[in-house]
Amino acid sequence: MNVSLDLEGSRVIIVGAESATRRVRARYQAAGAEVTVLSAGRARVSLASAAGIGTIPGGLPGDEAAGRSAMPHLIVWVEGRESQRIDLLSAARRLRVSMTTEHPAAHLPRGSVTLVGGGPGELDLITVAGRQALLEADVVLYDRLAPTEILAAWAPAAELIDVGKAPGHHAVPQQEIEAIIVERALRGLAVVRLKGGDPFVFGRGGEEVQACRDNQIPVTVVPGVTSAISVPAAAGIPVTHRNVSRAFTVISGHAPLSPDELTHLSGLGSTIVLLMGVGTLVQTVAGLQTHGMRSSMPLAIVERGYSIHQRTTFSTVGEITSHLAAISLRSPAVIIIGEVVRLASGETPNQGAVDLIVNSLPAP
Ligand code: SAH
Repeated sequence: MNVSLDLEGSRVIIVGAESATRRVRARYQAAGAEVTVLSAGRARVSLASAAGIGTIPGGLPGDEAAGRSAMPHLIVWVEGRESQRIDLLSAARRLRVSMTTEHPAAHLPRGSVTLVGGGPGELDLITVAGRQALLEADVVLYDRLAPTEILAAWAPAAELIDVGKAPGHHAVPQQEIEAIIVERALRGLAVVRLKGGDPFVFGRGGEEVQACRDNQIPVTVVPGVTSAISVPAAAGIPVTHRNVSRAFTVISGHAPLSPDELTHLSGLGSTIVLLMGVGTLVQTVAGLQTHGMRSSMPLAIVERGYSIHQRTTFSTVGEITSHLAAISLRSPAVIIIGEVVRLASGETPNQGAVDLIVNSLPAP
């Protein structure tokens, strides 16, 4: 059974050792409870004292002024001997104090690291496994993905470390991120590295896995919904489509594409998905045309996918450059090049949040 309780200001006794109760404690404190962590034996004594048993016979429960402990509103059993649990439960029942049971935190001699793909930014596009890892985390390193207050609710027991580029601040260098991950894990903590999209798509996830392996730290990767597929979808563009495109290539435009890459991409005749490609877009479209792509090839740019500021621009490889000054593109954006773009033209499937600038696409 699931019961919702408002714990704001309520007195909660958590039963168990500091290490086993660390997550439960953080969660109840985050919910506003006034938490005391006690061993099973001490919890029993405290309850007896609050009830006035063995101190002032017949005294009223919760009489703090008389030097007794205040009556708790809730007892949370985390660990202890079964006989102690039964004894405490029956005492709690007599005093009409609720008692519940929570799982102890795992004893992690080395700690662990989980790389979690957070998806493209929409809150419900993170996986169930990702949410579970956050729930169990002692430490979360994140970029700019989720608003901090959401993260605090999703990872209630965790220390939250922002390693991304906040406006006016520099991002924490990759080596330092890895050092923080390793240091916390070696302290025995459950570390989650939350990344945008999928951790292994241009996310330096592989390097973080390597850093953990170098230090014999167990590491798991929870995949995420990558922007390479989901952001085109948010604008109604399927990356493959029967009889239109049977392949898609995801490529980083962080550095200009090489002549070899341009030749192969033009020759494939299927969908090209460019991430981090705004800065080099002019060079990319010029290069693709030089290496054999026709100028009428449709192109779409989806900026800030899944946000209320999502905007899709439709054009062609030949025309887009002349429109750039007018549209002032901003990252993050996914650029899609290929006939699949035509399947979305004129449609705004993503909750009407799309501001369309449609240039007429020539017939194929
Ligand atoms: N690991 C990520 C990609 C990291 S590279 C993933 O799998 O999605 C960062 C690039 O992803 C951005 O420059 C942009 O091209 C793209 N991107 C990520 N989120 C986006 C979003 N919400 N809207 C548009 N582009 C996005």
